[in-house]
Amino acid sequence: MDFNSTDDAVMRRIRYFSERERKLRENGLYFYNQPVQELRGGARVVVNGREMGMYASYSYLGLIGHPRINKAARDAIDRFGTGTHGVRTLAGTLTIHRELEETIAEFKHAEAAITYSSGYATNLAVISSLMGRGDYVLSDKLNHASIVDGCLMSGAEFRRFRHNDMEDLERRLQQIPAGAAKLVVADAVFSMDGDIIDLPRMVELCKKYNAWLMIDEAHSVGVLGKTGRGIEEHFDLWDTIDIKMGTLSKTIPSVGGYVAGKKELIQYLRHASRAYIFSAALPPAQAAAANEAFKVILDEPWRIEKLRANASRFLNGLKQAGFDTLFSTTAIVPVVCGSDERAFELTRECQNRDLFVLPVVSPAVPEGLARLRATVLASHEPDEIDYAIEVITQAGKKLGLIQ
Ligand SMILES: *Cc1c(COP(=O)(O)O)cnc(C)c1O
Repeated sequence: MDFNSTDDAVMRRIRYFSERERKLRENGLYFYNQPVQELRGGARVVVNGREMGMYASYSYLGLIGHPRINKAARDAIDRFGTGTHGVRTLAGTLTIHRELEETIAEFKHAEAAITYSSGYATNLAVISSLMGRGDYVLSDKLNHASIVDGCLMSGAEFRRFRHNDMEDLERRLQQIPAGAAKLVVADAVFSMDGDIIDLPRMVELCKKYNAWLMIDEAHSVGVLGKTGRGIEEHFDLWDTIDIKMGTLSKTIPSVGGYVAGKKELIQYLRHASRAYIFSAALPPAQAAAANEAFKVILDEPWRIEKLRANASRFLNGLKQAGFDTLFSTTAIVPVVCGSDERAFELTRECQNRDLFVLPVVSPAVPEGLARLRATVLASHEPDEIDYAIEVITQAGKKLGLIQ
């Protein structure tokens, strides 16, 4: 392909991004894909040769590098090597996969669980193998992209209801023809906004209209509930979610995704979901790390308490300074900036003062709601959080985002 003479639709698409990136880089406003050179403790990293406080991580409980988890991974390599013999269905299943799935099922109070090689693949696989033409999927407007892609891939009628708006969900449920299969799907904690889905009302509606309920717990496992078991524990509503989905790449410091639920559902997924049948098994080290991490969460409940205290300290500090943090009540704290440019500028100010925090702009969030998406960890100390609040506040004043 000659990049200089070609001007087809593909080329225009590529040019649009390279142009946007070039302009941002010229102005020192490009912050994506920066490599972390080193970890220092649970909440500090070296980036571009500078030590910074980490405020962009999903490792909510600070489990990356935990000695028990590292050891479990090393032991698994010694025992099984670094790869598998292919897909789970054929020669790829190891005892550590079975153990991990049993651990997840127990942690999530479910009969059984299945794992996939990523959370993204899990959502694609599960939604598209359960739903099909003539069925209906109702998805919260702010659901994660992997849910949206799974819905589109399924070929089912795809309806989006207003964010966390149960009246709108009910109206849409009423519009579905009698007898059609229905799935309601939502994030437990919204990945860009940090608010929590109204599970009690959603469960009532699913019962009333005979719909399946699927909840994505990527940002709620280890974060919600007294023992970190997630949204069901948070609302004390057990056995109400049919498809309990989550990832192994956030609080759980590994990679992969899972679904927990009834035995029959899980067996169906083992035989019907293409990402399970046609993609290699999780590597042994990652499966073992994930397995150990669930145990560490239960053994070290202080991490959940500390995360909660840190999150409310950070959130209250920013609110008091006058920032719009939307409806966040969790460890994900959006700091609304307005335009994309504003979000990039605020990031630059923060990174100049050694806060590793990142902007999220359109189309990942609606235009005009570009933001810093700061995350709080159990491994932050209160004085570090206070420093972060101070830096963001001073930068916000400088840019006129707050008074
Ligand atoms: C991160 C995320 C995923 C994807 O998980 P990966 O393991 O990173 O592929 C799915 N859903 C939500 C809500 C997420 O935030």
